[in-house]
Amino acid sequence: MGLMGSKTVILGGGVTGLSTAYHLARKGCGSIVVLDKGPVGDGSSSRAAGIITALLWSETGVLARKISLQLFRELSEELDGYTFQAVGALNLFDPQSWPERERLLPLYRRCGAPFEVLDADEMRRRWPQLQPRDEFIGLYDPLGGYSEPDEYVPALARRCRELGVEIREHEPATGFVVRSGKVAGVRTARGTIEADAVVSTVYAWTNALLAEAGIRLPVKAVVHQRYVTQPLAAPLAIPAINADPLGGYVRPAAGGRLLFGIETAEREEQRVTELSYHLSSLEAPESLKEDLRRSFTPYVPQLTGVEWEERRLGLLTFSMDGEPIVGPVGGLPGLYVGVAFHSGGFAYNPAAGLLLAELVESGRTGIDIGAFSPDRFDPAEADAYLAETVKQKHVARRRH
Ligand SMILES: Cc1cc2nc3c(=O)[nH]c(=O)nc-3n(C[C@H](O)[C@H](O)[C@H](O)COP(=O)(O)OP(=O)(O)OC[C@H]3O[C@@H](n4cnc5c(N)ncnc54)[C@H](O)[C@@H]3O)c2cc1C
Repeated sequence: MGLMGSKTVILGGGVTGLSTAYHLARKGCGSIVVLDKGPVGDGSSSRAAGIITALLWSETGVLARKISLQLFRELSEELDGYTFQAVGALNLFDPQSWPERERLLPLYRRCGAPFEVLDADEMRRRWPQLQPRDEFIGLYDPLGGYSEPDEYVPALARRCRELGVEIREHEPATGFVVRSGKVAGVRTARGTIEADAVVSTVYAWTNALLAEAGIRLPVKAVVHQRYVTQPLAAPLAIPAINADPLGGYVRPAAGGRLLFGIETAEREEQRVTELSYHLSSLEAPESLKEDLRRSFTPYVPQLTGVEWEERRLGLLTFSMDGEPIVGPVGGLPGLYVGVAFHSGGFAYNPAAGLLLAELVESGRTGIDIGAFSPDRFDPAEADAYLAETVKQKHVARRRH
């Protein structure tokens, strides 16, 4: 596309939609409108822990995350009120889970994603406030870290507006305008908006919205929760830690606090069938706080006796093969989608927005994202996947 007079409508004002708008505006791609059914950040974006590592499971994932890591650092300079916390990211493994990950080390070398493999003694030496079990193996990403969503989301929205993006809040998209087999706009609660390209970044609402255009993607949503402690007596100097053997993760948080997330493997997936669905209706058992404490205190002894100050609940979306879905929708020219970022949509957002903007602008991307194509699924398998209701432990396990 790339024409000055063209118009792109982005559905969803979470980090993926805002990032897409930001990159389109930077490229000077005509007029750009972002629609959200609530205020910006009303979906999972404001609920995220914001952890990022480049050490993922596929070449496309690693290359995309390398772009994100670079962009988070640049945005940290550019956005008022946002700082990327470059504390590093540590992925913990036990002897059972390590061999599978060890097989990916050649991929990281090939892609130029730096890493270090650390034994328990080395981890204790670097982070004396943590007590890893002797059997733990650490895969450390020195470029990883985290962002505070409460800083990042408003700062990115502000920058988008400065760049001329029109952000319309409290305006749900209700369907698509299709002419000659091509998307020509969107219908909203307030009327019709003509557009040359429409980018759907409505995350957990994707299938509820795309059903309007007869499209179904094999995407499931699961509930996820994170908790912030009161300030600790002494702040912990630790990286962001994906602690799968402990069933969760921990990172520093503002004011000498810690942020923890916990898995709920036995919980069933969350169906989102209505556009009006809102994350405030989500609930999680109170007992999870104690589960977290029991699981993490041996590793983070300073957690003893510290109270929880805040809890946030949201949804994660997973595709059938565990990889994100980013790209044009073959059956409906003019429609692009970005969804199913497993528990790493915050981490993906700078790259996902750039890739979607590149597609809208020219149909080409700087890295090959065929592995993320919305058209890669067998329709019958996708239907079978959607028909079955599964527990969280049966959804592809991918953290951050
Ligand atoms: C507790 C928790 C912790 C997490 N931790 C991390 C982490 O550490 N690292 C990481 O990378 N990721 C993390 N995630 C995942 C991350 O939050 C998501 O992957 C990411 O925010 C997805 O961003 P998004 O913009 O695609 O979707 P969302 O932020 O969900 O945005 C979608 C938007 O679409 C809007 N919308 C829906 N329907 C319509 C409609 N019909 N019309 C207009 N607008 C509509 C919604 O209101 C919403 O604002 C976490 C998630 C949770 C819940």
